[in-house]
Amino acid sequence: MLNIVLFGPPGAGKGTQAKFLIKNFGLIHISTGDLLRNEISQKTEPGIKAKVLMDKGDLVPDEVVEGMIKNQLTAHSDAKGFIFDGFPRTVAQAKVLDELLKGINSAITAMVALEVKKQELIIRLLNRGKSSGRADDQNESTIENRIAVYNKKTAPLKDYYDAQKKYYGIYGMGTIEEISGRINDTLKKLV
Ligand code: ADP
Repeated sequence: MLNIVLFGPPGAGKGTQAKFLIKNFGLIHISTGDLLRNEISQKTEPGIKAKVLMDKGDLVPDEVVEGMIKNQLTAHSDAKGFIFDGFPRTVAQAKVLDELLKGINSAITAMVALEVKKQELIIRLLNRGKSSGRADDQNESTIENRIAVYNKKTAPLKDYYDAQKKYYGIYGMGTIEEISGRINDTLKKLV
């Protein structure tokens, strides 16, 4: 299996690049942000609880997203591999993911990390907010909080995967095609 953790701060372009990975490598895309927004639109109990946290730019509890990942792995048991987008976001989540993959005799192949400067992230997110309708993209202080939460809780995952020699940093500035090309060059060496 080819299992990729697509990593990077909010606004780094993970969703955009995931589309290209799905097409080029035939992987199943699992975005915890999309799964959570789906729960919200269906007004489920976990969705209603998650919305309050997401609108502030805080993380939802680990157990909530871990349960979603477990369901997705079961639902796609015949997958060639997965792209994890927006997950793991804490070291605890990364450890659970390792265990879940071990349970299906698999493991993470690589963390592909999109590296983008903070100034550019804010511009991209505010821009996206104009069309996405996402409350967390429309307010600069919420965006600042998301980046701060990322730096505090999520950025340490770089070391977690680096220690396993699985970290691949990708320069995330330039056109969408340029960035896809860089990811492609990196992944081709791994498959
Ligand atoms: P972005 O990466 O642009 O911030 P996402 O769609 O990945 O967007 O996430 C939006 C929000 O959903 C996050 O700010 C957080 O509140 C919640 N969320 C998504 N994935 C996770 C996760 N793995 N753990 C905890 N919270 C999450």
